[in-house]
Amino acid sequence: MGSVVLFLLVFLCLKAEVFAAFTTQGINYWSAPDHTRIVLPLLRESRPEVVYLSHPSRIVIKFKSPIRGRIKTTTKVKDSLVDRIVVSRRGNRNTVTIFLKGKFNYRVFTLRKFRNRPFRIVVDVLKPRSLVEKQRKERIMKAAQYKLKRKYIVVLDPGHGGSDPGAIGNGIYEKKIVLDLARRVARYLKRDPKFGVFLTRGGDYYVPLRKRVEIAHDYNADIFVSIHTNSAPVKSLNGIMAFVLSERGARSSLARMLENIENTEEMVKDIKLAKSRRTNKVVLDVAHDFSVVEGERLGRYILEYTSSLCGFTNRGIRKASLVVLKNPGIPSILLEVGFLSNKKDAARLKNPSFREKIAYSIYRGIKAYLESKKEIIAMGKRIHLVKRGETLWKIARIYGVTIEEIRRYNRLKSSMLKPGMKLAIP
Ligand SMILES: [Zn+2]
Repeated sequence: MGSVVLFLLVFLCLKAEVFAAFTTQGINYWSAPDHTRIVLPLLRESRPEVVYLSHPSRIVIKFKSPIRGRIKTTTKVKDSLVDRIVVSRRGNRNTVTIFLKGKFNYRVFTLRKFRNRPFRIVVDVLKPRSLVEKQRKERIMKAAQYKLKRKYIVVLDPGHGGSDPGAIGNGIYEKKIVLDLARRVARYLKRDPKFGVFLTRGGDYYVPLRKRVEIAHDYNADIFVSIHTNSAPVKSLNGIMAFVLSERGARSSLARMLENIENTEEMVKDIKLAKSRRTNKVVLDVAHDFSVVEGERLGRYILEYTSSLCGFTNRGIRKASLVVLKNPGIPSILLEVGFLSNKKDAARLKNPSFREKIAYSIYRGIKAYLESKKEIIAMGKRIHLVKRGETLWKIARIYGVTIEEIRRYNRLKSSMLKPGMKLAIP
């Protein structure tokens, strides 16, 4: 703190505006639960000079290119971290001063010009670590309460958000439509006493992919459903498809295209994190297989309902190396609900009552999957019939309990399981 923090990172910004004319104008900001992001789109590339000054606490950024679009001298932010942003210009010297509401950590990086997006300076003002840790503990507590009531926990992940609009087509922004869809699905799940539901983002802000994965783990999710809409250069392409994780990467060209679109600029950091998690390869492999196999089953249920109830073309389940699906132990899928580049799909997604219908069909798919899980409720106890190759770890994950709890409950002396064995689930 108090010193210059400057991360100059140039990211390959592989985004969906390949197919849409998206330009960024003026100063934009987004307030997320753990940070505030400010984006300055510049006319020309310019390496920023960044200094932090106190009394009052502020970040001063100097650069040599004008900001694109019309800008106000003062932008009032007034969230919990940032008070206001003040712009001044002297000759070719531009200064942006971000007045903070206290002494906070921050990071500054640049995004290079890519397709229709201009060169951008991005400033993230970060909430104190203690507060972020508190938010995390709250997630764990909330989930524990649901688990006590024996509810299934569904984590819905609306893709993109904030500075990342996702695909744009036929006047629709992916980030907006997927948040609306997720909220509608969540409403159906909340009305059902069997489920507890959480969203990885509840507003228009960006959540890094690895953070989405962490949120799902904090909530001890039974399933993770990332919701997106598709876009393709071929306008006739339509329908709904689901993706499960493949560590080897995509096989089809369509899936490869998706990898590029959905693995945003965060990917570099995400890969590092995925490696650091790899503490026990054997455990992770089992968890990974479980996530993929069960993810596929979940995807099949959802696609069945969305095609039969909404008439979407069922494009089936594909494999791709998507960062957000790296959820060992949690059945995870990424849904691509319709193509924004297709007129008919876009018209459907634009219609709120049709979105309600889509949300209902996704809910029905989730419900059908979770109810199909092999568990017998006998005399108030849940009994699990052990299948070939199942481990205590896997079974513990399915029911959201610990290995120790299962061992104690069944007075197991070893962790060896035999197929056909019946385990009572605490
Ligand atoms: Zn997307």
